[in-house]
Amino acid sequence: MKVLDLACANDHRFEGWFASDDDEAAQRARGLLACPLCGDAEIRRLPSAPRLNLGASPPAEKQAVALPAADDLQAQWMRAVRHMLEHTEDVGERFADEARRIHYGEVARRGIRGQATRADAEALRDEGIDVMSLPLPPALDGPLQ
Ligand SMILES: [Zn+2]
Repeated sequence: MKVLDLACANDHRFEGWFASDDDEAAQRARGLLACPLCGDAEIRRLPSAPRLNLGASPPAEKQAVALPAADDLQAQWMRAVRHMLEHTEDVGERFADEARRIHYGEVARRGIRGQATRADAEALRDEGIDVMSLPLPPALDGPLQ
């Protein structure tokens, strides 16, 4: 597994995970590389040396704890958001209704996401239903790859 530092034309930085250099070239040629933040397809490799992720523990002198750079935090956030999107069903405007149906056992329990007004969200919380609000970058508001 090869981890490459990539950036889009808008200078959003993210990691690309590839089987090999050839894999990266193939994905690029097929237009599969796109910025997870803005969807831009003009992706360039950053000059930093690619890292090989072999699952081995780092050498002892590198085991000191370091805070991730802001870019890494952004990448982690994007991964978390993508994970959430992949494991929830988009119920759109029906969010509040659907959340209640799940809470009261009318339908199978599952993760959902959708639009809710602030008043909706407060009413749900008053009923003891856990909801979380978060802004999503527009690039993610479409079909997932
Ligand atoms: Zn971008």
